[in-house]
Amino acid sequence: MKKPKTRPGKQAKSESRCIICGREMSGAPIADDVVIKAIRKAKGALGVAKGSRLVVCKEDLEEHFKRRKKFEKNMVQYGAIAFVLLVAMVVLSGSLTGVVAALLIGAFILLLGLVGNYHPSLLKKGDGNA
Ligand SMILES: [Zn+2]
Repeated sequence: MKKPKTRPGKQAKSESRCIICGREMSGAPIADDVVIKAIRKAKGALGVAKGSRLVVCKEDLEEHFKRRKKFEKNMVQYGAIAFVLLVAMVVLSGSLTGVVAALLIGAFILLLGLVGNYHPSLLKKGDGNA
């Protein structure tokens, strides 16, 4: 037997929480991208999901755009490093093992960039997440 999905009494409140200041505020919703979904899934699996909507409050919009821009810039840089390394390793090794290793290292570098700087984007109008 599976537990019913809805817990009576605990469901009604759907709060939104600002991802920057952490306060319960209403604001611009952030987009559900791959990372957010993964985090949500992980939290759900751990049983610590709060089910709050993630937003950026008005006061933090400027900060949000700053962080998002920095993140995007960083990812471009990490991507460039990963690419150069990949090409170098493929050229130097000239073997399939080298290519596989290069791909793994490249992916690892990208992941490092993602973990260190990740900042979600805002939900664009028309994405329709309703
Ligand atoms: Zn805020």
